[in-house]
Amino acid sequence: MRLMFTQVHLRTPRSPALIVLLASVWLAVAGNLALWQTLSRLPDIAGIRGLVFSAAFALIIAGAVTVVLSLFAWRWTLKPAISLLLLLAAFATYYMVMYGIVVDTPMVINVFQTDVREARDQLSWQLLVSVLVLAVLPMVWLWPQVLPKQTWRQQVLRNAALFIGGLVVTIGTTLGVFQDFSSLMRNYTDLRYKINPLNSVYAVLDLTVIPSDRPSGPLQPLGVDAAIAPRGGAVPQRPPLLVFVVGETARSQNFSLNGYERVTNPKLAQENVTSFTQVRSCGTSTAESLPCMFSHLGRDAFQSRKQEFENLLDVLQHAGYAVLWIDNQSGCKDQCIRIPNTNTSALKMPEHCENGECRDTVMLTHIEEALAKLPTERRARGTVVVMHQMGSHGPAYFKRTPDAFKKFTPECTDTSLSRCDRQQIVNAYDNTIVFTDHFLSQVIAWLKRQEKTSTPAMLYVSDHGESLGEKNIYLHGMPYNVAPPEQTQVPLITWLSPGFEQLSRVSTRCLQSQRDKPLSHDHLFHSVLGLMAVKTTAYQRELDFFAPCEGR
Ligand SMILES: [Zn+2]
Repeated sequence: MRLMFTQVHLRTPRSPALIVLLASVWLAVAGNLALWQTLSRLPDIAGIRGLVFSAAFALIIAGAVTVVLSLFAWRWTLKPAISLLLLLAAFATYYMVMYGIVVDTPMVINVFQTDVREARDQLSWQLLVSVLVLAVLPMVWLWPQVLPKQTWRQQVLRNAALFIGGLVVTIGTTLGVFQDFSSLMRNYTDLRYKINPLNSVYAVLDLTVIPSDRPSGPLQPLGVDAAIAPRGGAVPQRPPLLVFVVGETARSQNFSLNGYERVTNPKLAQENVTSFTQVRSCGTSTAESLPCMFSHLGRDAFQSRKQEFENLLDVLQHAGYAVLWIDNQSGCKDQCIRIPNTNTSALKMPEHCENGECRDTVMLTHIEEALAKLPTERRARGTVVVMHQMGSHGPAYFKRTPDAFKKFTPECTDTSLSRCDRQQIVNAYDNTIVFTDHFLSQVIAWLKRQEKTSTPAMLYVSDHGESLGEKNIYLHGMPYNVAPPEQTQVPLITWLSPGFEQLSRVSTRCLQSQRDKPLSHDHLFHSVLGLMAVKTTAYQRELDFFAPCEGR
């Protein structure tokens, strides 16, 4: 007869306090590779002094993480809380090391608004390794640990001790290295956005529980008095038709129209366009810029607004125009919810779309059909169509251009930009600008074909720029006050048909004489209203960049 043995492993319970301390040290040290990399490059703290300072910095972070974890160090919440912080730190570390990004509130908003298609572009095996080593490995150790059964009283006392202990370590160490610490924080303002996982914790709290002056209450109507001013007393026989192209991730300096040495605008160069060279964006990401571009407030007032207002498109609609939004990207960020809108994701057009993503030119294939659905009486007054481009969205720039537009080679074809040399990245990016040049010239060609029935014009402006490895920074989304100009200088291009020049009394020649004037997204709301002759109290003539050219 054989004896059956059942092996029973009786694990000894592990002290939650010890788990919190180990997790805090791991998160502070391993979870901050990007921060240590940054610190090691700073001239301010070199050699032994740098090492001592970095160790103190790690202690400050570990103490602060202990404080955070002490709030969750209950029997059922400790492991999930640590796991979440590990994952946040692992993802953030990857994006920081690879792309030089930092984690702030707008970045977290971006992550939530990114669609699957964009996220897929960014997956890579380095990301997998980062998550495996920094998060999964410690989780494999963490989850089998047995926590002791303790009374509420014991748990409260322990957590309070961790909280106070963490606080003492953080404050004490900060005071010990205060001089270096405060001067570094002042000189390198983006350092605080590099402290994992506290940056993510702060951003999520900022978005959820920290009481803030973020807008609340009902949507405020805007420009309800809007009306179309009679142009020179006469009603135009051919109503105005404005296509407003919202670009994506296009930076001003890579447009040959703005002096870039590579010919990235071969087609627009042959059109009677005006390219403004000194235009600042409102933000450094789509989520930040887009709502601001359509707002009447301008950047400063928009940032501190207490209420949400209707936007440019609502005012155009109040004035009586037909308005349409066509989206070839991840959505209109609530800008088009009260106007007719359509997006290309449902289109099955193999010549324009592959793997669920369509080229921007797809927006021209069904525009007539979409316009026909707008109310006839509105179309008789005029139409404004917004086209939201996929443009130069990264990091997979090479996916944005068909082969025929790959003028600059070799291209970086790795979604992990750091595995390509910089020239290949610039090549792939410049090709996206060449394709946008083609797309805009196709928009103009389509508009010219509408001249028998309407009076066409085009306005193109990008939402924000892009870093292509300058100072080792890639992509976009840096906090605005520390963002490099590559991320905030955007192209703005206008094209007016001869009929539109007559109708608006704005000449392209005059606009061209103003092309180096400093402008920003603050001007868009008022300039579009001015161009479309909308009279409303919401309009400010001094922010209308067409106004100085009226009658000239
Ligand atoms: Zn964008």
